[in-house]
Amino acid sequence: MSKKNPYLQLDQQMVGDIYTSQEVMENLTVLCDEYGARFAGTPEEYEAANFIAACFKRYGLQNVKLETYPYAGWTRGTATLEVIEPIRRTLHCISLPYCPAADITTELVSAGCGSPDEYTALGDTATDKLVMAKSASPPDLGRWVHRKEKFERAVLAGASGFIFVSEHPGVGPETGSLQNDRPAPMPGISVCKEDGEFLARLIARENGKVTLKLRTTDINEPRTSWNVVADLPGNENADEMVVVGCHYDGHDISQGAHDPASGMVSVIEASRVLSAYAADSLKCTVRFIAFGTEEIGLTGAFRYIDAHASELDNIRFMLNMDAAGGSSRKGIVLHHWDALEPFFNTAQQQMHTEMPVGQKVHSYSDHFPFFLKGVPSSHMGDPESAPAGRGFGHTAYDTLEKVELANLRAASAVGARVALRCANADDFPAKRRTSEAVQEIVDTDPGLEGYRISLKLTL
Ligand SMILES: [Zn+2]
Repeated sequence: MSKKNPYLQLDQQMVGDIYTSQEVMENLTVLCDEYGARFAGTPEEYEAANFIAACFKRYGLQNVKLETYPYAGWTRGTATLEVIEPIRRTLHCISLPYCPAADITTELVSAGCGSPDEYTALGDTATDKLVMAKSASPPDLGRWVHRKEKFERAVLAGASGFIFVSEHPGVGPETGSLQNDRPAPMPGISVCKEDGEFLARLIARENGKVTLKLRTTDINEPRTSWNVVADLPGNENADEMVVVGCHYDGHDISQGAHDPASGMVSVIEASRVLSAYAADSLKCTVRFIAFGTEEIGLTGAFRYIDAHASELDNIRFMLNMDAAGGSSRKGIVLHHWDALEPFFNTAQQQMHTEMPVGQKVHSYSDHFPFFLKGVPSSHMGDPESAPAGRGFGHTAYDTLEKVELANLRAASAVGARVALRCANADDFPAKRRTSEAVQEIVDTDPGLEGYRISLKLTL
């Protein structure tokens, strides 16, 4: 295995440029300060898509376009939560995306951290009740339990509503959609950790009866959004492509600076330096995609897969850089692609950079529609990270000043160098897998338990 770097000169040019430029932070500042949350259905979402397209054009990319698609839209309404007994109190809360309008008065039960065992223990005591679950992952379960899985288990338990309690002090309620691309079958709201602890203390009182009145006024209606697609065409095999992407929409309660904008501007920065230095030497096409409406169900990525079904055989690799410019390590997390590990380990040794390589898949970002279609896929992150909470993510405090230029640069550099290597490999060691092979992973991977639960709800 050679440690000699066949791309040394291009690496030096691209990485040197990234580390002597402010461009990536300037783009992040525009996305966050000019366009705010870029939430699905807002004017700023469309303006951000056009800004990203303008960046791609300015950097010399080709076939730059906005691809329009329909999706299930949602508009936040006011939400009120009143404690009726054992005392009277009004608590601050927010609806979660796809919450329907509702007005219910019923008892509260707690599902703890919302693990499968905690829901089993609730049995039919959850029927027609409000179920509350903390955002924390259950300790000792060995996997992260996503909000959607907790919500869907509450639906399956016969609950009439769901209260998502942030695990983090001082950051208010934690948002996130209840469903993918469809109105939720029952209301779901979020409260801050402090109010969640208060409700837990009421449940712990002697008779434990806590009655709440929840009223939501959200609107579910069809809408239109956009993926932004741009190419650096390959010079030898333009039909075959490497896809590098990230979503650009954030949640409406914040700037979404870390999730997703730090990753989005790193994708844009990778496109800038690849275009400037490697455009003439790319063998395959590198396609950059800014996905729309990820936060409410990976809708842009699912629509992309539908619209480009005939091209999926031609994607040799997909790298999802969702939130990649945050503080996490800039590794390559492969989605059950053992054959690709040596390829990326060799790349890492030649690049002389920190880029841990590992295997782990989850169903909660834009790589997942590609994974389901058998496309060799990955996301940028730390393959060794333990299941952990989002911190200020998905709260009002995911704001620009928390993102560090050094992290944006590291993500951009790894993204550009990996895309170059994938596009120029003569024998890329992975081919699209069959639907049977995908199904076997979907049926057995512990990390996809939440996805299997969501299928139960669909049936
Ligand atoms: Zn994201």
